[in-house]
Amino acid sequence: MTRCLNCGAERDADVCSSCGLNSSAAEFSLRKRLLNHTAIFLLGALAFVVASNRYPPLELDGILIFIGVLFFVTLGIAMWLERRALHHAEVEALKRVYYGLIPIPWLLSALLLANAAADTARPKVIDTHVVGKFAMRGPVATRRLVVTSWRGGHRVERLPVDGGDFDRFSTGDAIEVKVGEGLVGIPWISGVSRP
Ligand SMILES: [Zn+2]
Repeated sequence: MTRCLNCGAERDADVCSSCGLNSSAAEFSLRKRLLNHTAIFLLGALAFVVASNRYPPLELDGILIFIGVLFFVTLGIAMWLERRALHHAEVEALKRVYYGLIPIPWLLSALLLANAAADTARPKVIDTHVVGKFAMRGPVATRRLVVTSWRGGHRVERLPVDGGDFDRFSTGDAIEVKVGEGLVGIPWISGVSRP
């Protein structure tokens, strides 16, 4: 039994009785849809980078690792799907997994934005010290001030900051960190300043 690559209906002839496409037209249609969905996914990943720059969560590095893994898994599945479509193999289950992954970066971006933008509580002000800093250039610049942690079980916190704050502070400086609780409980950095 084979299924139509376009609509997923079972078919026994070359032309699908459900959508009327023959097997090569169905393959073309599936590959076009894969491309469109991949574009939507990539835009979502971009939206996530924008959202996490606007309202950096305290655990940004952990979240970025998750997004990175998701990114490669999704693109890997897209490539696998494309190969299977090329050989007219069964794709229904894989297609469902793939379509399920597409909205995740968009959902995470919306979650980050809502978490911080709708957080009306006054941020907590925490006094601590800069113990190190590091920056990485690239298309998405990474700047972190490493400060002594105020949370149990954490030795240091790596605060995502912009270029101005990064240059203003040196190792050993006292620093005030304003931390929002977050509407859905994702702590985020609302700013840093000198005490
Ligand atoms: Zn069909």
